[in-house]
Amino acid sequence: MASNQETSQFKVLIAGGSLVGLGLALAFERADVNYELFEKGDFAPQLGASIGLHPHTIRILEQLGVWKDIEEQVVPLQDRNHYDEKGYCFEESHVIARIQDVLKRPIIFVERCKALEVLHNNVKDKSKLHAQTAVVGYEETADRVTITTEDGEQHEGSILIGADGIHSKVRKLMADKISVTDQSLAKEINEGGFKYFLFPLFSALMFCITDNSPNPAFTSEYNCIFAVSRNDTEAQQFLPDAMVHNVYYDGYSAIAAAGVHGLVFWFLFVKSDSLTRTPNCPRFTDEDAEAYIEKYGSSAVGPGYTVKNLWDARVKATMVPLEEGVIKQWTHNRVVLMGDAVHKATINPGLGGNLGYEGIARFTNGLVPLLKETPSPSLEQLTEVFNQYVAGQKPRAHTVVNNSGQITRYEAQSSWTLRFASRYIVPWVSDGLKAKLYAAFSNGGPWLSYLPLPATDPEGLKLPN
Ligand SMILES: Cc1cc2nc3c(=O)[nH]c(=O)nc-3n(C[C@H](O)[C@H](O)[C@H](O)COP(=O)(O)OP(=O)(O)OC[C@H]3O[C@@H](n4cnc5c(N)ncnc54)[C@H](O)[C@@H]3O)c2cc1C
Repeated sequence: MASNQETSQFKVLIAGGSLVGLGLALAFERADVNYELFEKGDFAPQLGASIGLHPHTIRILEQLGVWKDIEEQVVPLQDRNHYDEKGYCFEESHVIARIQDVLKRPIIFVERCKALEVLHNNVKDKSKLHAQTAVVGYEETADRVTITTEDGEQHEGSILIGADGIHSKVRKLMADKISVTDQSLAKEINEGGFKYFLFPLFSALMFCITDNSPNPAFTSEYNCIFAVSRNDTEAQQFLPDAMVHNVYYDGYSAIAAAGVHGLVFWFLFVKSDSLTRTPNCPRFTDEDAEAYIEKYGSSAVGPGYTVKNLWDARVKATMVPLEEGVIKQWTHNRVVLMGDAVHKATINPGLGGNLGYEGIARFTNGLVPLLKETPSPSLEQLTEVFNQYVAGQKPRAHTVVNNSGQITRYEAQSSWTLRFASRYIVPWVSDGLKAKLYAAFSNGGPWLSYLPLPATDPEGLKLPN
């Protein structure tokens, strides 16, 4: 039986122990905020996925003291060649290296399971982390929230964060509770919201548009095979370390990136025959992936190698639909949603997880100072923190989701305007200007206000929203 002091102490319950859940765990541990995290599966599963980390996320990882452990595993990306369907290189870009010059931090690609391993290893008190413990229910009283886990145990806390991904159970439970009073809102929470512009130049120059869309539903229009393959310098090296190859076909595209010595992370993106909506977005099997390889395998990705060559050298590959959208309602009473549970971007520019880290910063920047001042805050005070997080994160989520969607369509040449832009406009925009535009976007990412800024950053840097 817990003591009175223990039951009244502020405690965060986190559902989900992936990129966002473990990031939150580290942030709370560093800020001395009591928490407990529940993960449905294991902490660092190998799914064949990679994760690209951008400068504004790396700054947060530096603050959390985990960046060095990732840095030592990677070769920062530098160059990116863009090829057409005939194998002609229509753009040799050094923009990634220029971004590193401007922002003093690189863009990197690492195996997702290795990134998760680093996050997990760096949590000092592992007794707070519970693997194989899915959250299946929650109930609220005036001042507490109690979750039930799959094993029938109950755990009490002050707030619950749903960081449990695109198929979020917490979001579903929250919608069920809201449906008692507002059925149409509950439906939108379960479905999401999405809209994108066709604005070709911006697609390539990235991250210049902000949009707020009321349209409902997570949608999926593109499918993706993602994989890790061997990039063996002795036997078969597809592309040199630090290099990215992008190839543009009509209706599909591919990316290969050599971000870790000896490995290549690659993606085949294919426009689907139909647009689907959650909860009816497809789930794919190994046979579906094989069928795609049969159809698209002979397509070149870079000089001297095809999709099939990458597939044959795979360590692990998976096929998924690329959902996109932003959920309308992110909070209810003592429950708040974060990461893919509320915003889902297509993966071509690699920003969905990075956006999740922005969310961690925006949320904890409100909660941590509040708890320092008021160790047992009222629901009204917590609601204010939740609202501030949503007000900062939601517009940014729309920007990232919209622009990521445009880039997916740009690379798959989904219209003649995008095709024209890719061949005749974007290559003529200087790397310097592209790096500047990207830096403006990246500099809009927040950091953890309650931890010291790394020495790389100038003194007096102003925290964006
Ligand atoms: C192939 C691929 C490549 C990508 N590349 C990039 C990239 O380069 N850069 C980038 O920024 N983003 C990238 N993304 C997106 C990025 O992976 C996601 O945005 C990110 O993983 C979201 O993190 P999350 O913690 O919110 O959700 P998830 O990573 O989906 O994690 C949710 C976690 O919750 C757990 N869970 C589910 N239900 C429950 C429950 N009931 N109780 C407890 N736990 C539960 C799950 O097991 C899982 O561990 C990529 C995505 C894919 C698919």
